[in-house]
Amino acid sequence: MGRLENNNVIVTGGARGIGRAVCELFAREGAAVAVTDIVDDEGQDLVETIKDAGGNAAFWHLDTSSEENVEQALSEVSDRLGGINTLVNNAGISGTNKPTHQIETEEWDKVIQVNVKGVFLCTKHAVPYMQKDKGGSIINLSSIYGLVGAPDLPAYHASKGAVRLMTKTDALLYAGDNIRVNSIHPGYIWTPLVAELAEASGQGVDDFRRQLDDKHPIGHVGEPDDIAYGALYLASDESKFVTGSELVIDGGYTAQ
Ligand code: NAP
Repeated sequence: MGRLENNNVIVTGGARGIGRAVCELFAREGAAVAVTDIVDDEGQDLVETIKDAGGNAAFWHLDTSSEENVEQALSEVSDRLGGINTLVNNAGISGTNKPTHQIETEEWDKVIQVNVKGVFLCTKHAVPYMQKDKGGSIINLSSIYGLVGAPDLPAYHASKGAVRLMTKTDALLYAGDNIRVNSIHPGYIWTPLVAELAEASGQGVDDFRRQLDDKHPIGHVGEPDDIAYGALYLASDESKFVTGSELVIDGGYTAQ
């Protein structure tokens, strides 16, 4: 018996990186998984991989910054799976990496649109399904950058700080509905998002990665699975008394 039997899960940004690891692990643990992303081909490929391994998954194109798209996709997911029990608000972008005084307003807005408004919209439209089912779990991907500062990615820091507190507010608002809301705060995890930062740095991918490794007391950056296992705990009933919490999975980055 898997840890997520009878659990209908929707994962945003599920085709790549952390979201992909979450979809694969959750399906192995018996969940019915709605893989959603703006990257359609990779999302469809992932669904085939999950099905080949005996899991239950389907793909929806879902841009979390579009309310129309969110409302429609969640309605279809609920119809197809028979409700929504767990939402993993994973989609996110790092966005522009400039000092604050050089950022264009449009660049700032883009990060907030995806990382903050996306979490708001998916939560807004998932909650009524969870209320109908008398409970649920919402897992928001914040970051170490939502806990501590660093001299880079100002808009990303702002967005992840917002997600940390949106999590606590929603935890309090929906505790009476038996809907738990928690945030996860990963350290650097080697995913396409971080690989792109490495390429954009101009210092060479290997050198960039070594520098990131050194920032984590455990000696290296993390892997997507490190985060997926934390999400698994928060999605399962094992965490039935956990809400409004911050699960830090960062190789000791913020312990210093
Ligand atoms: P990733 O490798 O870039 O994967 C994220 C996926 O989300 C991609 O497929 C991406 O598509 C998609 N996406 C982007 N905008 C979207 C939108 N508006 N609607 C739906 N999907 C969208 O990212 P990741 O590193 O796995 O990160 C996942 C989450 O963890 C993010 O919220 C990130 O901020 C957070 N996080 C990551 C790290 C890390 O070190 N990797 C650390 C802390 C927190 P495109 O590739 O086309 O953009």
